Amino acid sequence: MLSGYRLEVIVGCMSAGKSSELIRRIERARLAYLPTIIVRPKTDTRSKPNFVESRNGLASQAIVVAEAKEILKYSSHAVVIGIDEAQFFNDDLISVVQTLLRQKKKLICSGLDLDYRGNAFGHVPQLMAMADRVDKLLAVCRKCGSDFACRTQRMVHSDEQILVGDAQYEARCIHCFEPPGEYQLRLELPLYETTPVPLALVQTAPVAS
Ligand SMILES: [Zn+2]
Repeated sequence: MLSGYRLEVIVGCMSAGKSSELIRRIERARLAYLPTIIVRPKTDTRSKPNFVESRNGLASQAIVVAEAKEILKYSSHAVVIGIDEAQFFNDDLISVVQTLLRQKKKLICSGLDLDYRGNAFGHVPQLMAMADRVDKLLAVCRKCGSDFACRTQRMVHSDEQILVGDAQYEARCIHCFEPPGEYQLRLELPLYETTPVPLALVQTAPVAS
C-alpha cells in the first residue's frame, strides 16, 4: 500500500521543465521497483512515438493514447502512473483520474495550466484543485531574462487553442506577456496620452519671440 501523495500535478508554461520533472519522479519510483507507466496524448507530436521527451534531453518510454479512457486499458499492473501533456486530454480525463485514485494508484500529471491567451487550459486547473500536491514551475523569460516566466507567448497568428510545435512559442514573464487580444488593441491605441491640458497651462497670448 502506497502512502503519501496520491495525485501530484506539475504545471507551468513551456520550457519550465515539466516533462523532465515528471520523468524524474517516475524514474525515482522505478528505482524503488514500483511498476510504472507514462501515458501521453496523441495530440503531442513533438516526442518520438512511444516516448516522452523533455527539452533537456531526458526521455522515457510512454504509451500514446487517443483519449483519456484508454489509460484504463494500460493501468492495471501499474502502481505509479505519469500523465504528460494533460491539457490535451478530453473530458473523460477527470473521471479516469477519479477511477485510478479509487484504485489506490499514485498519479503524477504534468501539463500547461494556461493556454496562449493566458486562460485556463483544458482540465488542468480542475486537476490542480483535486491534487494533494501542486508544483508550479517557472521558466526563464525569453524577452527580459527574468526567472519568473509563467506564460506561453504564441509567436504566430492563429486562433486555435491547440497549435503544437516549439518554434511557435516562447516562455514569457507576466510583464512581457502579450495576450493576442491586448496586443491587437495596443496596435489600435493612439501612441500618446490624450489627457486634456489643464486650462491654466493653455497659452492665450502669442509667445514673444
Ligand atoms: Zn520578461
